[in-house]
Amino acid sequence: MPEYLTLDDVGVDGLNVLVRSDLNVPMEGGVIADDFRIRAALPTLERLVDSGARVRVCSHLGRPEGPDPALSLRPVADAMAGLTEKEVGFESGGQITVLENTRFDPGETKNDTATAAGLAEGVDLFVQDAFGSVHRAHASTVGVAELVKSVAGPLLVGELEALGHFLVDPNVPYVVVLGGAKVSDKLGVIENLLPKVDVMLIGGAMCFTILKAKGDEVGTSLVEDDQVEAVKRILDGPHAERLILPVDVIIATDFTENAEHKVTYVKEMPPGWMGLDVGRETNQLFASVIRTAETVFWNGPMGVFEWEPFKSGTEAIARAVAEATAYTAVGGGDSVAAVRALGLESEISHVSTGGGAGLELLEGRELPGVKVLERWAVSPPGGGSTPKGGGVQPS
Ligand code: AMP
Repeated sequence: MPEYLTLDDVGVDGLNVLVRSDLNVPMEGGVIADDFRIRAALPTLERLVDSGARVRVCSHLGRPEGPDPALSLRPVADAMAGLTEKEVGFESGGQITVLENTRFDPGETKNDTATAAGLAEGVDLFVQDAFGSVHRAHASTVGVAELVKSVAGPLLVGELEALGHFLVDPNVPYVVVLGGAKVSDKLGVIENLLPKVDVMLIGGAMCFTILKAKGDEVGTSLVEDDQVEAVKRILDGPHAERLILPVDVIIATDFTENAEHKVTYVKEMPPGWMGLDVGRETNQLFASVIRTAETVFWNGPMGVFEWEPFKSGTEAIARAVAEATAYTAVGGGDSVAAVRALGLESEISHVSTGGGAGLELLEGRELPGVKVLERWAVSPPGGGSTPKGGGVQPS
């Protein structure tokens, strides 16, 4: 039984199609810092235009809580126009029409019924293609798909298939590399993934909360004190030995790009200094683990990779993952940016457009934006397009 319909199952000629893409690109001073997600979204949009559909595409950008000109999708529409032969319009016009930031409407994140109905208005078919957003139950990911016939787009299908390598009997050793700043974001991931992996390598600021929970000196490193007790429970748990932490770190006097810095063993961390990257011995240790792996997933930078003195740990992981003979996947904006900056994209089995969504999938959690598509996968007796349950018959 298919879990969802795809574009292969439906005709789109002459239809008004709404696509939910993930156009949530990193912006720096009003300029798009990395257009990976726009490039990734385009093949689906172009295919729909070529098949005769009238295409509108919606996405969120950043986390506005209402209209915010700095987070308009207009620059995304402009960038998209430069990447495709199709005509791209913003809010109206064009073979592809980019709609304004879904989060300008506060009903979006509340999965408000009226917001979803507004999105669904005049839409014949909804294509869910925003892998990076399907872990959120919002109006543009779930609400609208309850109202209009909905299918999984090719990018979403590709992501689910590629990341399927990690779900059922992944080849072992199965290694997950986690980094980034916030333990609170990834504590659940650590807890749920540890029983499934052989080794979890942890860098980034988050390793300092774990080192603190172990009783190590962490100086002025970024630590989430309110997470220390929860981390201790993981460290006392049955799979704690699978966690591998840095042995050396690059430390600095303060959180600035040009701060005085040096390398130290974790066990010799001086008070008053902060860890901003992992050190060379850690790079070698992590790379040696990755080399022996058969399946590798990486999400999150090992240090403040935006700053030259603190990017070597993240680059070392990018190289190690690229050189691995394993099935490899990289997710999360920062890790993907690091891979792309080094020109290593083609050396990775799967470069994912999703961050949190990929982690939630690997944890075995249900993705609401995918789950909602199920209702359209089974035609009711006698045909028609009545959803399997709960939904409203499209007019
Ligand atoms: P996240 O959004 O949780 O994935 O975190 C990504 C951010 O973590 C990046 O902007 C990095 O600069 C930052 N980061 C990584 N390592 C450290 C560290 N040791 N101290 C402070 N920030 C860090």
